[in-house]
Amino acid sequence: MFEEQKKQILDAALEIKANRLISLSGGNVSMRVGENRYLVTPSGMRYETMTPADICLIDENCNVVEGTRKPSSDSSALIYMFRHMPHINAIIHTHQPWATAAGFAVDELPEFQVTIIDACRNPVKVAPFTPSSAIGMGILATEYAGDSLAVILKHHGVVAFGADMEEALYSAVYLEESAKTFVLTKAMGVEIPPLDPELVRLEKQGWETYGQ
Ligand SMILES: [Zn+2]
Repeated sequence: MFEEQKKQILDAALEIKANRLISLSGGNVSMRVGENRYLVTPSGMRYETMTPADICLIDENCNVVEGTRKPSSDSSALIYMFRHMPHINAIIHTHQPWATAAGFAVDELPEFQVTIIDACRNPVKVAPFTPSSAIGMGILATEYAGDSLAVILKHHGVVAFGADMEEALYSAVYLEESAKTFVLTKAMGVEIPPLDPELVRLEKQGWETYGQ
C-alpha cells in the first residue's frame, strides 16, 4: 500500500542526507496518508539501504498496520503534530547543525534572506529542549510552529513540515541555507538589517509561482 508515498519518503530522506541535514540513521521522514494512518521511516536504519518495504504504516497509537520494521522512536511526537496541525501532511525531522547553532543565538530566526522567506513562509521560532523519542517534542513543535513551516528544537535540531513532501523538503533545506548565512554573518560581527515587510510580502508572492 502507498507505494508512491513510500518512494517520496525515501527520496526526501536521501535528499536531506545529501544536503548534510542528518548523519548515519538520524532524524526521520513521515507522511499522513489517510484517516489515522501515517507512514514513517523505521528506527535506526541507514537511509541508503532502506527500501519501500522498510517504511512503516502506523495508526494513531503507533501500532504497525503494515511493515515488519520498528517505526521511528519519534513516532508519538510526529503523530501528535499531524493530529494538531491538520494543514500539514509531511514532516521531516533533522539534526541540521547550522539551524541548531542559530537556535542558541536567537529565539526566532527572522525573515532576513530569500530562502527562509520563500520556503519557511514566516520567521522560524526556537522551541525549548525536550528529550527526543517522546511526545513532548511534538507538543512543543506544535506550540512553536505558528504560521511557519519549521521549528528549531533547541539542543536538538529541526522539524520542517508542509502540505506535501516537497514543501517540507524545501523548508528543511532552505532553512539550513539561511541559518548558515545567519551564523556566518553573526560570526563576522555584522548586524543583519531588517527587511521592509512589503518587500518580504512581494518575495513570498514571487515564490508562489516559482517552478514548473
Ligand atoms: Zn532527533
